[in-house]
Amino acid sequence: MSIAEKVKLPDLAEIAAMLSLRLPADRESLRARAEATMREHVGDRVYYRGLIEFSNVCARNCYYCGIRAANHRVRRYTLTIEEILAAARSCATLGYGSVTLQSGERRDPAFVDFVCSVVEAVKRETRSAQLPDGLGITLCVGEQSEAAYRRMFAAGAHRYLLRIETSNRTLFEQIHPAHQSYDSRVECLAMLRQIGFQLGTGVMIGLPGQTVSDLAQDILFFDRVGADMIGMGPYLTHPDAPLSAGVCPTQALSRDELLRLTLNMIAATRIVLADVNIAATTALQAVHPLGREAGLRFGANVLMPLATPENVRADYLLYSGKPCVDEGVDECSTCLLGRARSVGREVALNEWGDSPHATRRSR
Ligand code: SAH
Repeated sequence: MSIAEKVKLPDLAEIAAMLSLRLPADRESLRARAEATMREHVGDRVYYRGLIEFSNVCARNCYYCGIRAANHRVRRYTLTIEEILAAARSCATLGYGSVTLQSGERRDPAFVDFVCSVVEAVKRETRSAQLPDGLGITLCVGEQSEAAYRRMFAAGAHRYLLRIETSNRTLFEQIHPAHQSYDSRVECLAMLRQIGFQLGTGVMIGLPGQTVSDLAQDILFFDRVGADMIGMGPYLTHPDAPLSAGVCPTQALSRDELLRLTLNMIAATRIVLADVNIAATTALQAVHPLGREAGLRFGANVLMPLATPENVRADYLLYSGKPCVDEGVDECSTCLLGRARSVGREVALNEWGDSPHATRRSR
């Protein structure tokens, strides 16, 4: 939906007001409005993206992230194509229509070749009567060259998730080393869109120094770049990441505040963008045991069950307190099904679950 087609896009002040709501009654009406918008524009079913964290090798040094290159305490791994395929096959067997293949960022030719081979293999090996075109594939492998993105798209990935992390340029510069530029990230988003990927982006919520006005600007940014899907969650500290150890010794917000702000952000994003997919991310469950259910109630319609093999789950730690690292693939599936049902929602199985925002555009 373009801005022109919308009845009226709330302005910055209105969005900031939604994000600032604190009183339970006010937050309940925000939630109800988000839920009504969700039902009208994307329906009430929940879509799964099996999350396969296939490598924690990373050449970047984002100040907030536990698997940054400079963290030498991490035991590095890269799954083989066979291991990734096995994980993808179990996703298909469990009825997940889509997978997200995520890793640290590498830009070397061998990595790009590897990602393309993985995508081709997953596509080829997961075709079935229910999924004639195989699993839907979202890639989340960071900033790449245009040529690399084109190859990944040609290999069969049809969605790409690259968070802007924060649309405030100054804040972006504070949480990344100097050579990781805001402009290059924005340029990547434009390339991805131009190549034809369904575009996902998002931010971290509760970054030190981030204001409600920044978050309201983030939502307008999502609209400006034409995002089809949004993945966002609370910022959580990691002991080996400089943002927690140095610049900001303590988490800026309490867990309760983080939960409130993240849920308000999901609701406001649903109200403003209406027909996009929004994930209730794992990080939401790290701030509250029922965080993901709450995310669904506030307008999210995507869950990302962890499908990373158990033996490496604990090595893909972006922040401390990541839930589900001790569970198996089957357990995550049943657990999330229960979580969705507990808030009165059904999970759509064996479907890609593209957002109406994306399908409308491709018609
Ligand atoms: N290398 C890929 C995948 C990064 S991990 C890429 O650059 O896109 C996926 C997301 O995890 C990041 O975009 C970031 O928003 C989030 N993340 C990283 N560290 C985090 C932290 N400490 N707290 C919360 N989210 C974090």
